[in-house]
Amino acid sequence: MKFRVLGCSGGQVPGHNLSSFLVNDSLLIDAGSTTAVLTLKAQQKIKDILITHMHLDHVMALATLADNLFGKCRVPINVWGIDEVVTGLKESFFNNKLWPDFTRIADDSQRLPVLRLCRLPEEEPAAVGDFRVTTVRVNHAVPSVAFFIENRRRTLLHVGDTGPTERVWSVARGKKNICAVVIEVSFPDRLQEVADASYHLTPQGLAREIDKLGRPSVPILVTHVKPEYPREIVASLKKLKGYHLRILKDGDVLRF
Ligand SMILES: [Zn+2]
Ligand SMILES: [Zn+2]
Repeated sequence: MKFRVLGCSGGQVPGHNLSSFLVNDSLLIDAGSTTAVLTLKAQQKIKDILITHMHLDHVMALATLADNLFGKCRVPINVWGIDEVVTGLKESFFNNKLWPDFTRIADDSQRLPVLRLCRLPEEEPAAVGDFRVTTVRVNHAVPSVAFFIENRRRTLLHVGDTGPTERVWSVARGKKNICAVVIEVSFPDRLQEVADASYHLTPQGLAREIDKLGRPSVPILVTHVKPEYPREIVASLKKLKGYHLRILKDGDVLRF
């Protein structure tokens, strides 16, 4: 599995891109910064997009991606989400007000729409491209899920934005082949109250979450650090001993 970080920042400033990750060139996880990073040719290779939740920092590039690829897409790109995500994208995003409805528009140059919205079941595996994907709800300000992304040999667990949560860890404990966990830290420890109110994690909070997995050897890939606090957060994360932590950077390419 090739895992490329297009963007892993919890805020947008020059040099820090919003959440978007590319697996094996064709499966996108979230669409915060996709079109700011990928060439048109690379954008054309995307076949499936998994959306964790409807916050703009995770979906905004769906707009520019659809616009860029209109007239260049032989088959629609599947945009996968749980019920609330699919309904939300339809009603609040591709509603011909905020943005044209690229799930419907077609013409002679683009026979089928560029995007196709696809509902993912909860806690049941679904075939997405070459992978099996299982959603489990996490604890965020809006309906949000973690994805277990499995090929024949390995499972990548993408948790994304969340506050303290339980269910995803009990499902994860049942999977022996987890190769990495992608999970957020947004705020420094001194802003624990802000983190709690906005359903995000601090370094201390992250340690409590990964303790629930109970498998210290699994690499924990930290994402969504707010660009206001990188030094503070990195310093606290470095003090956490006994974990296999890596703070992701835009442009990182990992292989599992
Ligand atoms: Zn969010
Ligand atoms: Zn976010």
